[in-house]
Amino acid sequence: AEKYTLEDFTMGELTFSIIKPDAVANNKIGDILKMISDSGLKIKATKMIHMSKTQAEGFYAVHKERPFFGELVEFMISGPCVVSVLEGDNAIKRYRDLMGATNPADAVEGTIRKAFGAGIEANACHGSDGPDTAKVEVSYFFSNLELVN
Ligand code: GDP
Ligand code: MG
Repeated sequence: AEKYTLEDFTMGELTFSIIKPDAVANNKIGDILKMISDSGLKIKATKMIHMSKTQAEGFYAVHKERPFFGELVEFMISGPCVVSVLEGDNAIKRYRDLMGATNPADAVEGTIRKAFGAGIEANACHGSDGPDTAKVEVSYFFSNLELVN
């Protein structure tokens, strides 16, 4: 059988998004997906998950030496998340801009974190920070066949 790669399904750039447990608990899934859609990014795939500790530790492995790693993992498994794959020209940077600064106190008006973030940890959303991480993160949660053409 033919093996498909991500590139076979992809027109623009892909990025990976998480609506974090705080925003899900605060009933902001719809508001955040609307902000994403209104920005012109296309939602290629989306689903609700509740990460295990092992999954969250694996996802944030790049941060394992940082002092807040344990707290971050506990936060990310504290409730369900919505994970999505977004597509568009320059999608990685556009979604980072739409999210706003890591600390919502520093995020500008019109960003997701300004609107819905509570603090440096419970900051409503995650977005890939570059092409290599985007690729790893998309495939951490989605198979190629889950990405709509
Ligand atoms: P991001 O790329 O903007 O999400 O920021 P980072 O990659 O630097 O950090 C990953 C995530 O860890 C952030 O989105 C926050 O949820 C959390 N985080 C970052 N800095 C801190 C911190 O100083 N304390 C705590 N508790 N969490 C943090
Ligand atoms: Mg990051």
